[in-house]
Amino acid sequence: MSAKRQRWFSGGELPCVPPPPFTDHPCRMVLLGPPGVGKGTQAKLLCERLRACHLSTGDLFRSARCGGAVSAALREALVAMRRGELVSDEIVIEMVRERAECLQCLGGFLLDGFPRTVQQAIALEEMLSDLNVALDAAICFELPLEEILARLTGRRTCSACQAVFHVTAQPPQVAGWCDYCRAALVQRADDQPEAIRVRMKVYHDETQPLIDFYEQHGKLQRVLATGSPEEIFERTMKLFSLV
Ligand code: AMP
Repeated sequence: MSAKRQRWFSGGELPCVPPPPFTDHPCRMVLLGPPGVGKGTQAKLLCERLRACHLSTGDLFRSARCGGAVSAALREALVAMRRGELVSDEIVIEMVRERAECLQCLGGFLLDGFPRTVQQAIALEEMLSDLNVALDAAICFELPLEEILARLTGRRTCSACQAVFHVTAQPPQVAGWCDYCRAALVQRADDQPEAIRVRMKVYHDETQPLIDFYEQHGKLQRVLATGSPEEIFERTMKLFSLV
């Protein structure tokens, strides 16, 4: 894990070693799209190429779960997460606010999984304005429902390093075990069929208005998320004339 990701996970306590920026204008973007559309995979590919920082709130909650002492608020958040429900805006916004310095990263940032509600988007706008930085775009990855379900039910996540695989589309070298750290792969509790059903409903009810929010602010860019991760990545880079 890079030093700057450690800073995100540690609540901004650890020092940051940002890489030299890719261009004079580092990319600052929000990634939107339904669960299972591949936001996390695209965030990793884009961050490697753009040298931006990958800031995922889902990873933050999962790493908090694996850590030591858990506060009452966080415990409540983890229960919501296991059910596939959204964590309360108050808790999520507070966790991002504690790490707001990451939004000033010289290499830029890709926010993956935040904001998820209009209230979170407004809070993000306030944080960015306080830091005197502006969001370049909100990328919305789009995919038909049947493909989303196939991706989610086949997804397996490393219990140690959180690397993501898929039983058919991106299988590990040894079934059930992580290629990178050799720990066991697990199916996330929120990738179980009942939790998936809840997450899709939550997405439509809560996150869809976010798409309207960014459209009204002239920031929305839609990307078709069919094909391999590399194809989606190239499509995204072309959209921003980054290749
Ligand atoms: P993700 O890995 O982004 O799919 O997030 C996994 C789970 O973490 C979600 O289903 C929510 O329970 C919780 N979560 C992550 N980010 C947020 C957020 N911005 N707002 C509310 N809940 C979140």
